[in-house]
Amino acid sequence: MAGTLYLVPTPIGNLGDISRRAAETLERADFLAAEDTRVTVKLLNHLGLKKPMVTYHRHNCETAGPAILRRIEAGESCALVTDAGTPAISDPGEELVALCAAAGVVVESIPGPCALTVALSASGLPTGRFTFEGFLPLNKKNRRARLEGLADEERTMIFYEAPHKLRSTLDDLADTFGPDRPLAVCRELTKLHEEVLRLTIGEAQAHYAAQEPRGEFVLVVGGRPAGAEPVEGSEDAALARVVQLRRAGTPLKAAAAQAAEEFGVKRRALYNRALKEEAEAER
Ligand code: SAM
Repeated sequence: MAGTLYLVPTPIGNLGDISRRAAETLERADFLAAEDTRVTVKLLNHLGLKKPMVTYHRHNCETAGPAILRRIEAGESCALVTDAGTPAISDPGEELVALCAAAGVVVESIPGPCALTVALSASGLPTGRFTFEGFLPLNKKNRRARLEGLADEERTMIFYEAPHKLRSTLDDLADTFGPDRPLAVCRELTKLHEEVLRLTIGEAQAHYAAQEPRGEFVLVVGGRPAGAEPVEGSEDAALARVVQLRRAGTPLKAAAAQAAEEFGVKRRALYNRALKEEAEAER
């Protein structure tokens, strides 16, 4: 009979957050699949456990995944762990879950620490509807497209971010949502220097202009209030894009259509504004 794939969440800072069920699952599993065995061994030492481990991470999942599946199908049970938090959430795991599920293997997900739920619940922002955005794309164009797609989002939005990119991400958030949008900056959750700043995007920019961002961050951004006007400035940004496209030789109508799509603004209004600006420039 095939074994089971267990998804075991591990602490995101405070070792006390490992649950009894998570620890028992680690103990009972025949082997662990770990993102980084050096990190996991520290947790095992804390729990007084010694377990056989294989690695499963972004760069080996194509070969490690089928190998893990074969062992599970042969009857072993496997506990998947990542460096911190819940496997498969902005972490390795989703492909392995899909692979095992497709093969009819039982996948059991153990509830536990996850930075996004810790941040959302502490944010003070509406929690009834939210969208988890993980890390924004690194590529500038994809990043802008992703953010513009969120410009009118009414649900609370959650982003993961690395400290060295925090300032530029706050600038991008201000460009998309405006500086007055409420934000919770959740830093070092569950750790000694845990901090949740509930402010606006503009205030967060000022705060981190004066002080170096350190530690791990989750950004929770309030959604656009229902019925509010689109953020001022996104049409300006769309207009700048029209100018750019026009310089590259795109006809005005097509340029306005493309920029309206990219920036989520009304095509007709953008076209009229661009037409007016071009006519004024020609005078
Ligand atoms: N799977 C993990 C989870 O369940 O939250 C997320 C892993 S992802 C590679 C790492 C990111 O999660 C960090 O860059 C940060 O945005 C967020 N994160 C993890 N631990 C955190 C903590 N203690 N405080 C704030 N953010 C944290």
